[in-house]
Amino acid sequence: MTEQKRKLEKLAGVKGMNDILPGEAALWDFFESTVKSMLRAYGYQNIRTPIVEHTQLFTRGIGEVTDIVEKEMYSFVDSLNGENLTLRPENTAAVVRSAIEHNLLYDGPKRLWYIGPMFRHERPQRGRYRQFHQVGVEALGFAGPDTDAEIILMCQRLWDDLGLMGIRLEINSLGLAEERAAHRVELIAYLEKHADVLDEDAKRRLYTNPLRVLDTKNPALQEIVQNAPKLIDFLGDASRAHFEGLQRLLKANNIPFKINPRLVRGLDYYNLTVFEWVTDKLGAQGTVAAGGRYDPLIEQLGGKPTAACGWAMGVERILELLKEDALVPQEEGCDVYVVHQGERAREQAFIIAERLRDTGLDVILHCSADGASASFKSQMKRADASGAAFAVILGDDEVANGTVAIKPLRDTAGEGEKSEQSSVPVENLTEFLINAMVATAEDGDD
Ligand code: ATP
Ligand code: MG
Repeated sequence: MTEQKRKLEKLAGVKGMNDILPGEAALWDFFESTVKSMLRAYGYQNIRTPIVEHTQLFTRGIGEVTDIVEKEMYSFVDSLNGENLTLRPENTAAVVRSAIEHNLLYDGPKRLWYIGPMFRHERPQRGRYRQFHQVGVEALGFAGPDTDAEIILMCQRLWDDLGLMGIRLEINSLGLAEERAAHRVELIAYLEKHADVLDEDAKRRLYTNPLRVLDTKNPALQEIVQNAPKLIDFLGDASRAHFEGLQRLLKANNIPFKINPRLVRGLDYYNLTVFEWVTDKLGAQGTVAAGGRYDPLIEQLGGKPTAACGWAMGVERILELLKEDALVPQEEGCDVYVVHQGERAREQAFIIAERLRDTGLDVILHCSADGASASFKSQMKRADASGAAFAVILGDDEVANGTVAIKPLRDTAGEGEKSEQSSVPVENLTEFLINAMVATAEDGDD
């Protein structure tokens, strides 16, 4: 008895992994539909890959000496077959894996996009979560700086479409492997001179991946990395021409940018162009989108050598900006809320609701928590709160007369007045509602 009575403990979600509740749905919808229409405008095709991949894909693709692979991956052994698997921390490697596996590039280059959750075991804070969402593009098979410029312009168009201002563009060039090798020698020599002040991460990376030291977020190291030899000074003619080509296109399209020689990106697969879109409004988590060229990756993952570039955007950070700038869209209510009382009215109401949905209207049928019939007054309260444009009301009288009562719920005239309730024969209900809605829409246009 006591065992049964004991209240069960509430279960909480996993730390750093958020529920996206209905109150936020309008914001997500607004973002997703805006981003999709931007992607369509550039001819991008959607690709959906699994959330779980072989761990090796990321260790090989992203690089062993990176934040993600060293300490952020959710990796596990499948207890049923012993496979080493990982929840995707990013999606470029998976899209490339899929493109190779399904030979997507057999008939020429492809412009692909994705959206979905990514997983990184980081310290949760504002703008940094363990499950977060990215939308990203991968332009596979395009070598020229025009594609770098195009994917950057896509971001600018999205900021404009969303109404976001003040997101700054920073660009850099990582050159080619041999140029990075020459820079690396000088960088190591320089960092060795400062070995006494380097932090643990930097010391560990000094010989394995010194470029990554420049990416440090440790304030104590900022001056040292500021004065380190710059990769950009090691670029050869072709790399420089590519970088200048990009800058020319950005200028021609009035996209302001800053060259940031310290921008190196946290993943190993980048070469030539890298870029980030940054805002000052989100504290330390100010990068809302990041990307670049990753020409070596496709071959590295077993495909034919193929040029490629792309970006990934942190959806939560962009939504945070939309909230910050009060660009949160209103949740749209449904068209009709059906109120009913009495056994026969309840049956009729069910049928009427279905008929209205047949005509394309969005309808909520009142249903009480306990299955009993609630008072008209409490049902009308629910109808008002639902944001519906009209209440359709059925009681004993209406059922007996073959009519329904219709009450507009929104303040259509904008003067705090709602139009009067009217009684309509059931067979004229749809026509009445559609006419009334057209009239309201026309009023709204004035
Ligand atoms: P950061 O330097 O902030 O850790 P990153 O270089 O690891 O970012 P990328 O791998 O380039 O990030 O991912 C692209 C974008 O995804 C970032 O610019 C950011 O907007 C978003 N992002 C990355 N990690 C997270 C996270 N843990 N939570 C929320 N958004 C994230
Ligand atoms: Mg990171």
